[in-house]
Amino acid sequence: MIIGAGFAGLETARRLASVPVRITLIDKNNHHLFQPLLYQVAIAGLLPSQIAQPIRTIFRKQKNLTFQMGEVSTINFDEKYVKLNGSVIAYDYLVLAVGGRTNFFGFDVIEKEGFQLKDLETAVKTRNHLLRMFEQASHEGDAEKRKSLLTFVIVGGGPTGVETAGALAELISHVMVKDYPRLNLNEARVVLLEAAAHLISSYPDELRQATSKLLKKKNVDVRLNTKLENYNGQEVTLLDGSKIETQTLIWTAGVKATEIVEGLNVEKASAGRVRILPTLQLPQHPETFVIGDAAFLEENGQALPMISTVAIQQGVFTAKNILRLMKGQSPASFHYKDPGLLATIGRNAAVARIFGISFSGFIAWVIWVFLHIYRIIGFRNRIIVLFNWAWDYVFYDNQVRLITKE
Ligand SMILES: Cc1cc2nc3c(=O)[nH]c(=O)nc-3n(C[C@H](O)[C@H](O)[C@H](O)COP(=O)(O)OP(=O)(O)OC[C@H]3O[C@@H](n4cnc5c(N)ncnc54)[C@H](O)[C@@H]3O)c2cc1C
Repeated sequence: MIIGAGFAGLETARRLASVPVRITLIDKNNHHLFQPLLYQVAIAGLLPSQIAQPIRTIFRKQKNLTFQMGEVSTINFDEKYVKLNGSVIAYDYLVLAVGGRTNFFGFDVIEKEGFQLKDLETAVKTRNHLLRMFEQASHEGDAEKRKSLLTFVIVGGGPTGVETAGALAELISHVMVKDYPRLNLNEARVVLLEAAAHLISSYPDELRQATSKLLKKKNVDVRLNTKLENYNGQEVTLLDGSKIETQTLIWTAGVKATEIVEGLNVEKASAGRVRILPTLQLPQHPETFVIGDAAFLEENGQALPMISTVAIQQGVFTAKNILRLMKGQSPASFHYKDPGLLATIGRNAAVARIFGISFSGFIAWVIWVFLHIYRIIGFRNRIIVLFNWAWDYVFYDNQVRLITKE
């Protein structure tokens, strides 16, 4: 049984395709989602259907797999069953790959008043809101109110915050200026707040510096060492008491364990992730593997990051360890192979570290574009995304500027 058809669960299921096992794959959604491009949905660059693929379509040809849509509410590790949609399903081996969710660090008000990028619903909600702000500003006579409508605050200077800030700044300067010729978009501001002293703190220093420079070139107001104190839907209050009037706060500052993991009576580490053995097994339960964002594992004294490459490699490795157990062999220990780092900061600009070499600019951006197109699931999606991006590149246009009902 595999719970979660994200990067980790999907990979385990695929790697067991030609093995004589029966797989039950469960997900609360009917689709696999390419989360790294959610921000593109939010900034009206891509449609939800271009970064998601129905799970039944992905596994159409895999005869040993059954998909069940539903949210697992209970897991009993001792008696080896889960509860789903009111029924009980037993398993021999369990792969728990349920990912994470946004960590608001106790700021309930931000969860209510702010925006987040976690799934298709939250990304579309963010897109609708952003586009509505320009509509409202276009007929707002009061200069102060207009300024607040056109101020966009992003909290969290990790890769998602950086990518969102860069793309939003370009949406304003390349696209909205054409759609709203009577609106003075020099009044628009994208503010990126980061509590630490650097952006993308897990990246080498030269890339952090390059990121800051690229964002500033795109007129993003980057504020480091800046902690948020409160937000009431109208106004951000910073720890030093200063305020930013804004109707838009996008929170990209953290990830934590999902509800189902939160309720498990197992040893947890930071962000509520499940502490696992180097073999990716749950201590005391060798038939259970916890992988991807839901799991906490340290290598060389450092926790593995909550990123897709870790999830994918753990998915592959889990399939191998399950086969070892089935053959009566001992499971092996997982070692993460770091493929490098990559983040884009809008058109023609990205930062990368590949094979130990750091670089930024156009070449990094081209690598980012092709890598993301390669990794999106579904040939049709790849072609459409490539076409969309080529169109946007040539015509300085974002094609999905639709305000829809939610
Ligand atoms: C906005 C954003 C941008 C990102 N950008 C990058 C990036 O640029 N590069 C990168 O490497 N990583 C990026 N990440 C992180 C990356 O997406 C995650 O590390 C990765 O998705 C983790 O894979 P996973 O399989 O553990 O979980 P997920 O991909 O989150 O999949 C978990 C699955 O479990 C399902 N599920 C959850 N609970 C239940 C339940 N109770 N019952 C049934 N199903 C359930 C969910 O529906 C989901 O399909 C980004 C994440 C976000 C949110």
